[in-house]
Amino acid sequence: MFCIECGTKLEANQKFCKNCGSPIKISKETKTPSKTSNVRTAVNNSPKSSSKKNYFFYSLGFGLFIILITAPVWGLPYAIGYALPYVLILLAASLIPNKNLRKVVLALLSFIFLLIVIFS
Ligand SMILES: [Zn+2]
Repeated sequence: MFCIECGTKLEANQKFCKNCGSPIKISKETKTPSKTSNVRTAVNNSPKSSSKKNYFFYSLGFGLFIILITAPVWGLPYAIGYALPYVLILLAASLIPNKNLRKVVLALLSFIFLLIVIFS
């Protein structure tokens, strides 16, 4: 069994993840099998599904994207300087423990940054 938030291996009787502190939800495998619950169980049990890592790469990718669209106009050093604060804010937002809130905040921030970049 692995933590659904950070992918840390968990003891059978743990109630909270010792790495990230998120409560452990035990998936009941005795439930009537449906396609969606099977997929969800498979994702939750995978040790590689570390959502925090995904958001880290998402932030870096977004920064690269900003650099790519601003560098031809402003020059590379200025583009990097411009993208860096956005990446840092996105990385900070990726530390939000609530998964759904984190998704909303990251999507909103990305959208706002994109508008700023396009209209400035
Ligand atoms: Zn965890």
